[in-house]
Amino acid sequence: MMLVDGDAGSTSDWDDRWNHIKKFLERSGPFMHPDFEPSTEALSGFRNIHVVDMDNIDVSNLNRQFLFRAKDVGRPKADVAADFINSRVPGCFCPSFYLYLEFHIIVCGLDSIVARRWMNGMLLSLLVYEDGVLDPSSIIPLIDGGTEGFKGNARVILPGMTACIDCTLELYPPQINFPMCTIASMPRLPEHCIEYVRILQWPKEMPFGDDMALDGDDPEHIQWVYQKSLERAAEFSITGVTYRLTQGVVKRIIPAVASTNAAIAAACATEVFKIASSAYLPLNNYMVFNDVDGLYTYTFEAERKENCSACSQVPSDLHFSPSSKLQEVLDYLTESTSLQMKSPAITTTMDGKNKTLYLQSVASIEQRTRPNLTKTLKELGLADGQELAVADVTTPQTVLFKLCFTS
Ligand SMILES: [Zn+2]
Repeated sequence: MMLVDGDAGSTSDWDDRWNHIKKFLERSGPFMHPDFEPSTEALSGFRNIHVVDMDNIDVSNLNRQFLFRAKDVGRPKADVAADFINSRVPGCFCPSFYLYLEFHIIVCGLDSIVARRWMNGMLLSLLVYEDGVLDPSSIIPLIDGGTEGFKGNARVILPGMTACIDCTLELYPPQINFPMCTIASMPRLPEHCIEYVRILQWPKEMPFGDDMALDGDDPEHIQWVYQKSLERAAEFSITGVTYRLTQGVVKRIIPAVASTNAAIAAACATEVFKIASSAYLPLNNYMVFNDVDGLYTYTFEAERKENCSACSQVPSDLHFSPSSKLQEVLDYLTESTSLQMKSPAITTTMDGKNKTLYLQSVASIEQRTRPNLTKTLKELGLADGQELAVADVTTPQTVLFKLCFTS
């Protein structure tokens, strides 16, 4: 995390520095926000940008992440990005610790849906409701950009007011997985061979010790998977297994296209400008971009989902028969397209005490609670209308559900 900062009265301003921005802020126009009055007093220039990223720069980032150069490989991304911005846009930077509350606008360029949902949940958790009415000053707008090859999207989320990430979870394409039977017995593609090694051989052979999970960033791990995948491919006369493909499959890499990233980054930056200056109405609220074949963009208004488990403020109902097993509830939480949880932990309150029904992330608790999975909801002592609290990596908040028994 680095701070990019320039102080407003600094000598780094030069003549005409803000000319382009002035055209938007000092003149009226057809797309102006109805409540905005153009003037020379209007805000100009972003002077305070925090860059948050825990990663270091890898050589494979250089083709698409414009701020990084070969000499930067190994350095923290946040440091280098802040340096670059500061050298390009004169000012100064200093690192600082922060709370999400201190930010006015958050822009996300994340590579996973889980990370988006987490950030979404974080901003939802900061909302203040008084007697059920949202305090608008507690809203921190979230601008989210995403790309996948030649496709991209940019969206503006006003948490608690407009559709959130979880409201539109069904819009995201499912992650493509190969059927296990194909991987195990009828591989046809080089990817099938790599998946075989990743899913079946690695856990069985544990080549780097008992508790060592496969790390897609560790060249020795990838090398091992690569060699084993070659052997598997040879067995089935499959060609095309390469080191690069192995890493791509293990890390689920989707090739990044620099021009798509640039278009989406520009759209996000424009939205930040519109919201920060209040001079123009923001995107309402979801723009898709596609240049697979020609160039196409389309904007639509994603709608809030009334019973969104993240932003609706109402516990969702879970409809199960008393004779359903806890495993079925767990399957629903992970497989339902509107929830798509990853490793949900389910707790409830019984006789005034917290009771963990199932928790996967701590081995000892998993072992202790595993027998509950094969018990029925009735056997577990759960009642109609019982509240279940579910924690998951997809949100920093606990999600409440109400159990509704079906007969
Ligand atoms: Zn929502």
